Amino acid sequence: MSIGEYRPTGPWVLQSGKNEDQALEQLMIRKYATVLWFLRKRNEGWERGGRRSKDRFHQHLEWLVKQGESRIPICPCPHCPKDNPNTITRFSVIGDPRGNQISCGMSFTACDREECKRKVDDQTTKNNNSWYRFKFSVLNEFSKSNQTLLLRTVLRPGFGIDKRMSKQDLFEFFAAENHIAA
Ligand SMILES: [Zn+2]
Repeated sequence: MSIGEYRPTGPWVLQSGKNEDQALEQLMIRKYATVLWFLRKRNEGWERGGRRSKDRFHQHLEWLVKQGESRIPICPCPHCPKDNPNTITRFSVIGDPRGNQISCGMSFTACDREECKRKVDDQTTKNNNSWYRFKFSVLNEFSKSNQTLLLRTVLRPGFGIDKRMSKQDLFEFFAAENHIAA
């Protein structure tokens, strides 16, 4: 079965270990690094085993990480004209992503328009901000405490992920067919 054919019907709930009873879909927004670790371990085992068929856990991990990368944010750009705003596509962060404390927030998000990006840049006094796309994989570039902050203040609100969403809600969020707006 190729990854293109894998179509899960529900969240993957872990049955044992440190994250018992949590769904992989929850770990995507709580411990993204753990999801990647599971996938790396599965890939290593698969290569050692002569690349035989992947088990369902492996396929679910691949599917979930891929779906995560294709999520699109839903919030209107805070810097666009109020009557016809574009949707946000990127966010800006002040400070060292690997350091102790970054500054971030929804007012530092913008759409693809250059004017909107410039409005954010102008808010920063020394132009010491960096721009990122709304992708779960950007979390890899941040330290652990910064990841938590970024998820709470930018990624979750940007994607419309509510704290109270159930395992099933999160599964549906990741399973939805997203289309990049033309
Ligand atoms: Zn804009």
